[in-house]
Amino acid sequence: MEKLIITAAITGSRITRDMTPHIPITTAEIVQSAVECWEAGAAVVHIHVRDPETGLGTQSLEIFKQVVKPLQEKTNLILCLTTSGIPGRNLPTEERLAPLELKPELASFDAGSINLGPSVFINSPAFLESAAAKMKNMGVKPELEIFDLGMIVTCLRMRGEGKLAEPLHFQFVLGTPWGAPATPESLLHLHQHIPQNSTWSVIGIGKGHLPMSMMALIMGGHIRVGMEDNIYYSRGGLAKTNAQFVERIVRIAGEYGRQVAAPDEARRILNLL
Ligand code: ZN
Repeated sequence: MEKLIITAAITGSRITRDMTPHIPITTAEIVQSAVECWEAGAAVVHIHVRDPETGLGTQSLEIFKQVVKPLQEKTNLILCLTTSGIPGRNLPTEERLAPLELKPELASFDAGSINLGPSVFINSPAFLESAAAKMKNMGVKPELEIFDLGMIVTCLRMRGEGKLAEPLHFQFVLGTPWGAPATPESLLHLHQHIPQNSTWSVIGIGKGHLPMSMMALIMGGHIRVGMEDNIYYSRGGLAKTNAQFVERIVRIAGEYGRQVAAPDEARRILNLL
């Protein structure tokens, strides 16, 4: 079985200090947490940055640079920059795609629109076309974020139109209250619909985190952990660091007998070389 790629999603755009005092917010905190995750065994970090005024997500290129540069100097991590902005706030396309200027190896590509609480996270066909075209131009591999089966259909159509290049890399986002649930049946169903030469990883939101991680471990997929997706380490117990989540997956994978991929091994698995 392929080695296991662990991605750490450090902060996201919406978790506040009221929800957990441990969420990294400043650029220094985000860098430190990412370095800790790398030391613990993560090969990829998924990066959002926060506006110092509001504490919420921003797509400011300047603030992204303050995280990307130190991580490139201190680590050999694969960086996956977000293009979602603040989901549900629906920032202008140009603003969302601004971090691509830094030419990260990966960037998130939310493959369709979805309800999000009282609002809608809009990823219109026009947005998807612009995002795919810019990623292609900049040499950035899209990480196809899949909340439901129709989003896979969309990606396969764009692949057929030459807008997304094979091999595709999918990130299943399971367990949001508005999309596919975090159940084994749900993951198996989505997995059946992706091309065989694809790579894939799974995010289990909240209490779906460990069950989906275990599914990916045994199915040969990859795993994303971190406070963007889940702030609890155990029932009612907040995670103190993102690295805790990485360490737990490393321990379980070790006991199970699946090796964890270092960043350069992950680059080969994800066809980034
Ligand atoms: Zn994200």
